[in-house]
Parts: sequence; structure tokens; C-alpha cells
Amino acid sequence: MPRLSADVFAGIVFGAGCTLSHMGAVLKQAVEVCPPHQNQVFLAVLEQLRWFAGQQIRNVAAVGGNIMTASPISDLNPVFMATGCKLTLMDKGKSFSTAPSSVHFYTDVPALDLCVCVCVCVSDGSRVVQMDDGFFTGYRRTIVRPQEILVSIEIPYSQKTQFVSAFKQSPRREDDISVVTAAMSVTFTPGTNVVQDLRLSYGGMAATTVLAKRTMNRLLGRHWEEELLQEACSSLAEEMTLDPSVPGGMVTYRQTLTLSLFYKFYLMVLQKLRRQGVNVDEVPSDCLSATQIYHPQTPSSVQIYQALPEGQSKNDVVGRPIMHLAAMKQATGEAVYCDDLPLYENELYLSLITSSKAHANITSIDSSAVQSFPGVVSCVFAADVPGSNITGVIESDETVLADRQVTCVGHIIGAVVADTQLHAQRAAKAVKIQYEELEPIVTIQEAIAAKSFYQPTRTIQKGDLEAGFKQADHILEGEIHIGGQEHFYLETNVTLAVPRGEDGEMELFVSTQSATKTQTLVAKALGVPANRVVVRVKRMGGGFGGKESRTTVLSSVVAVAANKLKRPVRCMLDRDEDMLITGGRHPFYGKYKVGFLNSGKVVALDVSYYSNVGNSMDLSLSIMDRALFHMENSYSVVNIRGQGFLCRTNLPSNTAFRGFGGPQGMMVAESWMTDVALTLGKPAEEVRRLNLYEEGESTPYNQIVDNVTLDRCWDECLSRSGYHRRRAAVELYNRQNRWTKRGLAIIPTKFGISFTAVFLNQAGALIHIYTDGSVLLTHGGTEMGQGLHTKMVQVASRVLGIPFSKIHISETSTNTVPNTSPTAASASSDLNGAAVKNACEVLLKRLKPYKTKNPKGSWEEWVKAAYLDRVNLSANGFYRTPDLGYDFKSNSGRAFHYFTYGVACSEVEIDCLTGAHKNLSSTIVMDVGHSLNPAIDIGQVEGAFMQGLGLFTLEELHYSPRGVLLTRGPGSYKIPAFGDIPTEMTVSLLRDAPNHKAIFASKAVGEPPLFLASSVFYAIKDAIMAARAESGMSGPFRLDSPASAERIRNTCSDHFTKLCPPPAEPGSFTPWSVQV
Ligand SMILES: Cc1cc2nc3c(=O)[nH]c(=O)nc-3n(C[C@H](O)[C@H](O)[C@H](O)COP(=O)(O)OP(=O)(O)OC[C@H]3O[C@@H](n4cnc5c(N)ncnc54)[C@H](O)[C@@H]3O)c2cc1C
Repeated sequence: MPRLSADVFAGIVFGAGCTLSHMGAVLKQAVEVCPPHQNQVFLAVLEQLRWFAGQQIRNVAAVGGNIMTASPISDLNPVFMATGCKLTLMDKGKSFSTAPSSVHFYTDVPALDLCVCVCVCVSDGSRVVQMDDGFFTGYRRTIVRPQEILVSIEIPYSQKTQFVSAFKQSPRREDDISVVTAAMSVTFTPGTNVVQDLRLSYGGMAATTVLAKRTMNRLLGRHWEEELLQEACSSLAEEMTLDPSVPGGMVTYRQTLTLSLFYKFYLMVLQKLRRQGVNVDEVPSDCLSATQIYHPQTPSSVQIYQALPEGQSKNDVVGRPIMHLAAMKQATGEAVYCDDLPLYENELYLSLITSSKAHANITSIDSSAVQSFPGVVSCVFAADVPGSNITGVIESDETVLADRQVTCVGHIIGAVVADTQLHAQRAAKAVKIQYEELEPIVTIQEAIAAKSFYQPTRTIQKGDLEAGFKQADHILEGEIHIGGQEHFYLETNVTLAVPRGEDGEMELFVSTQSATKTQTLVAKALGVPANRVVVRVKRMGGGFGGKESRTTVLSSVVAVAANKLKRPVRCMLDRDEDMLITGGRHPFYGKYKVGFLNSGKVVALDVSYYSNVGNSMDLSLSIMDRALFHMENSYSVVNIRGQGFLCRTNLPSNTAFRGFGGPQGMMVAESWMTDVALTLGKPAEEVRRLNLYEEGESTPYNQIVDNVTLDRCWDECLSRSGYHRRRAAVELYNRQNRWTKRGLAIIPTKFGISFTAVFLNQAGALIHIYTDGSVLLTHGGTEMGQGLHTKMVQVASRVLGIPFSKIHISETSTNTVPNTSPTAASASSDLNGAAVKNACEVLLKRLKPYKTKNPKGSWEEWVKAAYLDRVNLSANGFYRTPDLGYDFKSNSGRAFHYFTYGVACSEVEIDCLTGAHKNLSSTIVMDVGHSLNPAIDIGQVEGAFMQGLGLFTLEELHYSPRGVLLTRGPGSYKIPAFGDIPTEMTVSLLRDAPNHKAIFASKAVGEPPLFLASSVFYAIKDAIMAARAESGMSGPFRLDSPASAERIRNTCSDHFTKLCPPPAEPGSFTPWSVQV
């Protein structure tokens, strides 16, 4: 093979099958060895590869695949198009052995991997095409003929006066698909700023990657200066338009991005021209940050535990950071989850048949085709339910299997049962259902207009509203919409139902937070007493509230099928089914009127909450109750009224989700608090501090707040975060930077602990001591990764005075501890911990005589002695929370046993041009009383915070106007990635704050920290405010949650946003998605 110098060629040629990782590695090496002016295109490709999918995908996806997929949001195609890459195509019929006239390997470029750099030159049957605007002929179509394959791509060296940049804007930075992706290349007449050639290529703006040809042509021969910028932007605004109904939506945002990205390019090129000595304007120093490419910084994290009380015995594990007892098993994959259970010999698999209409009468179901599918055993429909087809965890307002009507897309109509998952799923698709469509109600606003509400409407009112508003120096009104959230547990819903063969007995293995509810509703559907149904839960791969009530529907269907066929039946939902069927956090719309004094003291609040409940009540009333119980967050408001409306819509029933309405309630509170500060022009932290609860004040529901640690958390958070220093730095940064802004916010939370349904505040435990001294502990709570079992073992270890290694928890089951409450409301350690303690104390009392008799004996000896003396070594324990019971009618009684408090301070930086943001720092101070286990508690704080961060800044469920969920998997629904964790993260557990109302002075921790992530949202809002100030805007403005890149960009109104066409009139088009 001839050894050829790299610059003999016009570029580097990659075989179409070259993986993206490999291509990246080769280009990186090329950048190191080639003269800088030749590397512009390579650098642009590398920039796109940095944010292209994840490493795993880049390791297997080939460059040819990316080109030939012809996706309009491909990140590489814009670069290839803007830089005129050449593609070699080969007719499949022609033979390679004779075709290539020469094959060249680049061996002069040190260490370039030879196998990828194959250049196939023109030969018989091959042709070379340039990737320009003619290459893509339509959505996912190219000029490549059916009999042709792509052989290679030549990525060119850049010219001396050519500059290239590439940009990708996606909702999440890591592993996400683009909203708009672009590449721009400009070539100047040597020594001048006169444009000789310009190519602007965009993805995400049409059905194919496109060139902005009109704009490109207009700018040829022009000088690279302010006037060109203005003309480019006006021209792009005209040329790069989108239909208001375009798939993917975000019309205004996408249009604005085409201008914003060009502006970035304009500034970058100015810098490069100056560096080459060309006489052009200097980039103003306050615009420099717009040209900087994002590079993640090394993250750091600090966890501050509490000191153990002096003198605590070494053997006492309470308060120590004991590792989650299943951590190792979970990390290695040895932990057994429901679907890991081995197959029963005659087991079958079930696949659901669900509605494709949001609201319709079922006119016919035709399952005749199913029987011809391999492996199919049977179908299950409403008529197969032997007991009651009516179900529901509180209200009986649902069907196990829909019979006449469907009320949401995803409504379960039936199921196909077959020998394997694949067979069942294939056959389920063959069931034909005819519908008579009815008008659906999808959004909160539609429900309000149609007065489509569930009853009752809740109200909490205290003080004298009228007098409060009269007393106020200012009154303002505002609104905020808070989007829903998908639970996204790693393990989707799963049930294995095993008929026991006699007396109607059925055993179910379920991933559920509610063993008892599952037992009750399965028994109801089967028409048997609850004592025939056993529900067993080993552990869940996450629950987050999503497995509190909605799991019962799948379990009932699977049990009905198992009962019909008298064989074990299993079903684990695929991710898309789970997202479609099982509902999520309720979207909320809050509308408020707030009265306040010049000082910032809030004296009157009238707030209405509307939640999107979906097609059944589920737990929505209790969720609304909790939203209302948190409507003042941590602030004392003496004259107040909160009303809660439950919107009946045709979405899948929304349900419990960590925080249970509390975060939505508090989010609205922080919206009006921000508005108050903005109206007065006062620092928000000052106004918040002024309104914080003080010891002995009373809530809107007339509960005295005692042992308040809000002020301590606040002060510690201020000092640990260096709030005032940060504020000064943020202000300086914002003065010095026009296109990136920083924001800061400190937010408190007060979370009421107890189930608001009083009867649920009870728990049981069962302990067996075996004759070898080992202890089997069972309690009413379920393990979903939150560490409950670990904490319960710690409690039993302390009370029994034995090492925790002697204690084992196997599972939660309805035949050991009956009538359990769901593992929810953050209260499971409090409730079950007290029940465990109670059971341990009973056993200790029974063992006491043997200890007294043999004080130097061992645990095993005492146990053995007691056994031989015929002592019962098994005991159950019970606990009920005292003094609870709130009455909405009289607004009296105690709603909560106590409150968990916390404060967080967050700092962010936004890119005003793209809406991207960086989470720079978060400092959290959390009062968890005397932590039972600081490692687990800090894990809960960090986990809840990140889940809240997803809720408030990232996660968006998109529904079509006809109620179809469009985001049904990780490709389109983005939860936080590692890079979203604040670069500096500090979590501190407040010291010396015992809570004498719960087990060993601890506090509940699961849900309370979630809302603290709103500090990131309000820091973003603070940064947007600084951006708006540059455009002369001040005062309150609406920012809905999540603060997505789209919302951030659109709210940072500036001359680019103003150049773009205004959004089309609502009602004049059918949008791709609607705000539900
Ligand atoms: C999780 C995930 C994340 C992703 N993120 C991104 C992203 O951030 N940015 C982005 O742009 N894309 C992204 N993608 C899309 C990805 O780039 C493409 O799926 C990938 O490049 C395809 O490469 P492949 O080798 O798997 O192609 P294949 O799937 O094998 O092929 C794709 C198509 O091209 C055809 N084809 C392949 N090679 C040739 C050839 N030589 N000649 C003719 N036809 C050919 C195939 O027949 C097929 O129709 C992502 C995909 C996944 C799954």
C-alpha cells in the first residue's frame, strides 16, 4: 500500500460501518497532529459527538447508520451538510473485489487507526455525492437508491479562512435528542471579513436536515459585522418557520434557537477573525460567555452527619451510618425482585389490551384472530371476573376490565394469556376493538370550562380575608401551572399470581407498596374472602408512590386470569405500557390573590388549586388535602383561604407520588412569595425570612407549630452556602455578562407528618425468636430501596440488645402482619419502628427472668432457657399515632403529628440564548431529628432532591389534544442525569434537634426534602429576572414548572425572541401537545 501524506486528500475518509466512538478517537488524534486551520470540521464533529447519545450507543452506532437513518434531528448530518462532506455510494450488485481502483490508508497520521480509514475511490458501480440540501428527499428518505449502500464518508479538512461551529440544544444535556441542532460554516476572502461562502444547516426545523439557503445567499459578499448579524437574524426569522402543529411542538422556541445559535456563531467567528488579524469589531466582554462551550466541572459533594450522643454503646447501631442491608446484593444483581422468581412449571404470561381512545363507548371486541397465534391459551375480559368488576382503593369508581366504556387511553379492556411474553404481546395486538368516540376532556383548563369536577371541593379558611386585603398595602394576582411527573421506578409494575388449587386460595408475588390493598381488591375481584389471598412483597425496584394504589389494577387482572385458567400467571409491564397505564403525579394549576404590607409581610391569601385527577378518584382527594395543608409552606399567613378542585378528565388516573400534593401546594406558595418580593423590589430571601413561622404560631388549619427549627435550618443554610457572598458574586457576574446569567434562591419547607386519613396511622410487627437465637422480623412496611428494613433491624437490635446480624427480614406479607397501611406518607419508620419496638419489648419482658437468673449468659443461652421453659418466643407489636384527627368542617383537630423542616439554597447559571442551565451548587440543611441512620437519611435527602429537581426543571409528559401520552419511555421523557446533579452539593443534618414524637427521637425523611429542589427552580427564575432586566422588564412574571430550556429561553425575552413570528392564535390550529 502506498504511504500517503494526509494532506494529499481533501479530508479523512471513514467507512460507513465505523462506530461513532472510533470516529471520535480518530478525529481527536487528527486534531492533535494537523495544523489548526485544517481541523475546524473535525472539531465541529467532535463537539456534536460529545453530546451524542451516551458512550454505550456511540460504541455501537455507526456513522453510516446515522446518515442513512436520515433523522431530521440527527446531530451529525448538519455538520456533514454544512461542510459538504462527500459520500461514496455503491450499487449492491457490483462486486467489491474488482471495483475499488485504489484503497488508501492514512499511515502518516500517527496512531490513526487504519481499519477505519479506508478510502474507496470512484470505481464501477459507485458514485460520489455531496451531502447538500438535495441529499435528503423527505422524512427519513435520501437520494440513495434501494440497491445502493453507503460505503464511506469523507470529512473534509477546513480551509485557512474557514470557520465551522456546531450546536446541539436538547431538553437535557446528556443522552438526549435534539430540539434544534445546527452546524455553520463560513469562508472568508483571505485577509478580509468578506463572506465568500456560508452554509447554515439546521436539524429540527423541518422533516429533513435543511440549509437556510435564502439567508446564506443573502449574506454572500457581505462584511462580517453588526449589519450582517441583523440581516441574518431577520432573514432566518422569515426563512426558518414552523407550522404551529409541527410534531415535537416548541414552535417559538425552535424558531428562536435558529437565531440565537447563529448569534453565537457570529460572535465566535468575530473572535477567530480577530485572532487571525482581520480588522473586525471586538466581541464585547459582556458577550464573551455566549461563546463559551460547556464543559462539565468536577463535581464535589459534602455530607454532614450528626454526632452520636456521648456515651452511646459501641454495640448500639441506632444513629450509625449502617449500609443498606441489601446494598451489596442490589449492586451485584443478586437481589431478588419479583420478576426474578423462577418460572412455575405450568406458568403463563399475560399481556394487556388497552384502549386507544380517551373517551369512547366500546361497540365491539373481536378477539377471534388471537387463537391462531402461537402459544395463546386464552383471553380475559370483563365477563371473566368472578367477583366484582368494580374496584378502586377508596372510591369504587373503576373497573377491573372495562366493559362498555373507556375513559382514558390505556384503560385496561382485557388481556391475552399465552405461554410466553412474546406470544402474549403479539397476540394482544390482534384484538380488534371498535369504538364510538365521545369528546374527551384532557386539560385542567378544559375541565374548568366544562365544570368537570369530582366532589367534594375542599376549602380551608382562617382569619378574615376581607380585612386582610383591606389592611394590605399591595394586592397582586398570579397563576402557575405545575406539570405532572412519571414515577420512573427502575422496576415496572409486576405481579405473579399462583392459584393454590383449593378453597379459592391464591398467592400473589407483587411489587407493591400496599400488600393489604392488593389483597382486599384481588379478593373482591375473585369473589373470595380476604383470608384466601396472600400477598407477598420481597422488595420493589422503586415505588415513589406509584405502587401505592395503581398496582392493584394489574394484580387484579392477573389474578382473574390465574383464577380462570387455574395456572400461575405473570405479567411485568413494559416501560411504555407502565407509563401509559399507571398515571403519575397530578398536574396542578394554582391561581392566587395575595395581600401584603410594604415590609413584605403577607397579610391575606386567597388561593385556588386545580388538580388533573384523570378518570378515577384514586387517592386524589387526600392528595388535594395535602396540597391545601401546605398552601402556606413555611409562612405564617393569618387571613387565608385555600380551595381545592379535583378536575375529572380523560387521562389515566393520577396518583400518589413522593410528596403527595405537598410539593404542588408549596410550589404555588413560593410563586406568590417570589411575586411579592419582585413587586416590592426587595431581596426574596428577606421577604421569605420575614414571613417564616415562629414557635407557637398557628397554621391555616389551626394547628400550633411547635419545636420549630425553621430558623435554625435557615441560618445554617445561609452560612453553609455562603449566601451573602454568593449573592454579591451573582450580581457582579450578571453585571459582567449579557447572555449568561446566574441566579440564587433559598427556600424553606415544612412537611406535615401523618397520613391525613387518620385510620392509616397504625402499624404492626411480628417477631419470632428461634432457638438458635436468630430473629425473624416482619413488619407492615415494604422495602422499595428506601432502607426501611435496615432501619427496622437497627430498632430491633437496640431494643433486644443484640447485634443486627442476628436479625433478618425476609419479606412483607399479608399472612404475617395483616391490615397494613401502605408504605407511604414518609411515616413508615415512625409507625413500623414503634410497632417493632413494642414487639421487642414484649419479648424482652418474657426473657427477663432468664437474664436475671443468668446475668452473664449469652443471648442464645437466655433464648434456649426460655424455650425449654415453654415461653412463647413469638410476639406481635402494634402502634397507633396518638391525638390525630382533623375536621374540615370545623377547621379543628390535629392534622399532623409533627413537621419535618428543611431549607435549601441553590445557585444556577442559565444560557439566555438557548435556555440551557447549569446547577452550580445546592446546600441543604434538613432537620430529621436524631437520625436513625444518617447514611440512609442523607441518601433520602439527596434522592428526593434530585427527583424534585427533575420535577421542577426537566421532566415533561406530553399529551396530544386527544389525550394520548406521547412520551412513553426514556427516549422522550428525561429524568435527571448525572450531569444534572449540582456541581457542589452539600447536605447537612441539623444537630441537636431531637423529635420526641417519633421512634428514638427521629423524624420522617422520605418526602420532605423533595420540595427543596424548588430552590433550583426559583434560582432559575432569579436568573431569568436578571436577563429580563437587560430588556427593560421588571416585576412579577409567570414561569410554569418545569423550568425547561424552552420556558427559560422564551421567558428571557429579548430582540431575538421579538424578531420571530408571534405564536399562532390558540384555537386556530391543532397543537402537537397540550398542557394538561
Ligand atoms: C439511546 C439512543 C440515543 C441516541 N442519541 C442520538 C443523538 O444524540 N443524536 C443523534 O443524531 N442520533 C441519536 N441516536 C440515533 C443513532 O444515531 C442512530 O440510531 C445510529 O447512529 C444508527 O447507527 P447504527 O449503526 O445502529 O445503524 P442501524 O440501526 O444499523 O441502521 C440505521 C438505518 O440505516 C441503514 N444503513 C445502515 N448502514 C447503511 C449503509 N452503509 N448503507 C445504507 N444503509 C445503511 C439501515 O438499513 C437502517 O435502515 C440515538 C439512538 C439511540 C438508540
